[in-house]
Amino acid sequence: MDHFLYRDGALYAEDVPVADIAAAVGTPFYVYSTATLLRHYQLFDEALAWGDHLVCYAMKAASNVAILKTLAEAGAGMDVVSGGEYLRAKAAGVPGSRIVFSGVGKTEEEIRLVLEGGIRQINVESEPEMQAISKVATSMGVSVPITIRVNPDVDAKTHAKIATGKSENKFGIPIARAREVYAMAAALPGLEVVGIDVHIGSQLTDLTPFELAFAKVAELTEVLRADGHTIKRLDLGGGLGIPYSRSNEAPPLPSDFGAMIQRTVGHLGCEIEIEPGRLIAGNAGLMVTQVIYVKSGEGRDFLILDGAMNDLIRPAMYEAHHDIVPVQEPAPGVEQHTYDIVGPVCETGDTFARGRNMPPVAAGDLVAFRSAGAYGAVMASEYNSRPLIPEVLVHGDQYAVIRARPTFDEMINRDTIPQWL
Ligand SMILES: *Cc1c(COP(=O)(O)O)cnc(C)c1O
Repeated sequence: MDHFLYRDGALYAEDVPVADIAAAVGTPFYVYSTATLLRHYQLFDEALAWGDHLVCYAMKAASNVAILKTLAEAGAGMDVVSGGEYLRAKAAGVPGSRIVFSGVGKTEEEIRLVLEGGIRQINVESEPEMQAISKVATSMGVSVPITIRVNPDVDAKTHAKIATGKSENKFGIPIARAREVYAMAAALPGLEVVGIDVHIGSQLTDLTPFELAFAKVAELTEVLRADGHTIKRLDLGGGLGIPYSRSNEAPPLPSDFGAMIQRTVGHLGCEIEIEPGRLIAGNAGLMVTQVIYVKSGEGRDFLILDGAMNDLIRPAMYEAHHDIVPVQEPAPGVEQHTYDIVGPVCETGDTFARGRNMPPVAAGDLVAFRSAGAYGAVMASEYNSRPLIPEVLVHGDQYAVIRARPTFDEMINRDTIPQWL
């Protein structure tokens, strides 16, 4: 559920007409709804209310500092995967005690950065990384709480590019080797083992793979405790999917997810962390673009938009579906038209949808991509020298530009010309 609804014939973001924002900031742009972000965070928070827990928003989904601050003020922690994300979380006012550090290749510089600034825990992904953390922590004379990310070898049944929990994926240590690696952690200085971490993939639309993975984590908890390790915290990752198509998808709800967690690991008395990204931000954002041309091709009509693959890469990268709707509400009963919906970038991959049925639109009309809040703006580039598009945050009847569109000069002046030219 979100707060992007038609009202009096026009698409609104909460209480603001989307067309008003377009008139003020120009197209294309991203717009996020505060109420939707908060609602999604709260659904997870309530789903885990049966026990000690922290919902750590996986900020790689949408990392604008204003979004982070919105969630942090509601009580969210953050899951960060780089030094840059850590500094963004800090800039949003998130205390280190609510930040967890994930990611397969943490550098010594990044490890030092988070140890200096304070960190709730580091989720360790490999033995060499564990040694690096131990070395940095020891050199600073501190001890850092860690979990070890185990790879449970379950099939997340999601797109291959976002499955992370099979043994062939680069993430975590094989669960079969966990005892050995925990023993190594216990022997290294500067590390305080506090728990286990797992994250099996993204856009999962069925709870079964989660349940299989969490059952393995529960078993491992007992084994590691018997070995003498302290396992008081379970970080169960993110990955719960969202409905990208209103018409035919109904993924499990956060409440189902929370109940399943209670069923599989609730008896262990551990503090639970989860790291949802997409479910918090995905349906809290639109990408709004304008139709430049409608071009009639051989047996098909192309809708050529001013938004492109560099602004929203998910269709090109993951064959992802986004519902695309006119900002002006179509008349009831209007006959659908079939379009190939494309951007202006010089790549055939710059195609958002083929053979898409939607209400007819004309040049100059605004169209909105739904479910564009996660893995949208954060994955944008300036390919074809198209400046990064602005981000706007709505709160009730107010809105603010939370990242401005760079001017062409700003974009070009980031390049420097060597002295020999
Ligand atoms: C990407 C990622 C997440 C968030 O995944 P979503 O599908 O957006 O919920 C959580 N944890 C880790 C370690 C990740 O890499």
